[in-house]
Amino acid sequence: MAGEHVLVIGGGGTGAAIIHDLTRRGYRATLVERGELTAGTTGRHHGQLHSGARYAVGDRDIARECMEEVHILRKIAPQSLEMNYGLFVATNEEEAAYGDHFIAACNEATIPARDIPVEKALEMEPFLNPDITRAVQVPDGTLDAWRLPLHFFATAQAAGATVRNFTEVIGLHRAQGRVTGARVLEHATQREYDIEADFVINATGAWAGQVCALADIDVPITPAPGTMVAVKKRLNNMVLSRLHPAGDGDIIVPQRKLSIIGSTQWQTDDPDSILARHEDIEFLIRKANEMMPSFADAGFHAAWSAVRPLAGRAEGSDGRGLSRDFTCIDHGAEDGVAGLLSVTGGKATVLRAMAEKTVDTLCGILGDDIPCTTADAELLPHRAFFNPSPA
Ligand SMILES: Cc1cc2nc3c(=O)[nH]c(=O)nc-3n(C[C@H](O)[C@H](O)[C@H](O)COP(=O)(O)OP(=O)(O)OC[C@H]3O[C@@H](n4cnc5c(N)ncnc54)[C@H](O)[C@@H]3O)c2cc1C
Repeated sequence: MAGEHVLVIGGGGTGAAIIHDLTRRGYRATLVERGELTAGTTGRHHGQLHSGARYAVGDRDIARECMEEVHILRKIAPQSLEMNYGLFVATNEEEAAYGDHFIAACNEATIPARDIPVEKALEMEPFLNPDITRAVQVPDGTLDAWRLPLHFFATAQAAGATVRNFTEVIGLHRAQGRVTGARVLEHATQREYDIEADFVINATGAWAGQVCALADIDVPITPAPGTMVAVKKRLNNMVLSRLHPAGDGDIIVPQRKLSIIGSTQWQTDDPDSILARHEDIEFLIRKANEMMPSFADAGFHAAWSAVRPLAGRAEGSDGRGLSRDFTCIDHGAEDGVAGLLSVTGGKATVLRAMAEKTVDTLCGILGDDIPCTTADAELLPHRAFFNPSPA
């Protein structure tokens, strides 16, 4: 029947898409974020709009989902996307040979991928290493990491959702085996207060384990930070990737007036302690130069890190073996603590799909037969979040 009050914890892209979906299905929604909106991983990634090609060989489900979501985001939030395409390039014979397998896997995942002549690739990308031996074009693109979630926040807010930033969940209330709300700390005033809810959704990404611990739940998640380096020039038009299985330092994203090389990957127990390491910065610049030899000369702009909220446990490794797919955990069924869902994993590109699956799960638990409609509903412009009533 809907109308229940749902508290969403975490103001990244996932939380934004969830409150939008909730309001469209008739739920009352409140979202709390401990910092500024998108201040977690969402506001720190390099902003590749993934066609899924990067994952087509080893991680087919997320590859397919990425392609489907690119089509949907182009309809509902076109202002925050650049459909500038992507180029996978071979810098040696082994990579060139991998190309056939790569193209076949992309096509199986419904991602159009085609060889383009090397001379044509060099014409389109003048800063590309002239020694490349193969180039495969795919429908990757660039997304604006800050603005894309704001479309969802703006639309949810206009539909009645409450969004409270700088408000941190410091406790979860439990009664008779279920979560019934949260204790929050409002950072601006240092005031603590309670928010009651019929259901709580934990969309805190790499921090999901810490929030679940407030309800004595041990959630399987691997926070895996990665570093990126930006130079002060937009050297490439398309997203450039190495034509090999996804690894470190093999993507250069054109973002605003910058080029960003990413990334590295390691594991941490503390998602708040992720300083970029000197050796990673040097490694990334070296790898970028292999694809675009003038990268290092373009002028250093910044180096920073962000934490992947990988679903599952890496068991001592860096987590590269874990899927990039997302999962929604019903803690009633899994841990005997009803009224709480956690969503972990995924990519920024699939934020809407993550919300759809999470709210579908919620509807299933509550016995509400309300279909998701977010794939067809164009979102408000991102500015409408700060200026809610231009009409
Ligand atoms: C190096 C790197 C590069 C990436 N590049 C890309 C890319 O190019 N394209 C792509 O599609 N994806 C990319 N990703 C993945 C993508 O960034 C993430 O999947 C996505 O941003 C996760 O969003 P989220 O909303 O789930 O998490 P977050 O954005 O981290 O949001 C969780 C929020 O919860 C808040 N929070 C935590 N604890 C509490 C609490 N107690 N109370 C209230 N709030 C709390 C945090 O402050 C945070 O803002 C990349 C990831 C990394 C690490």
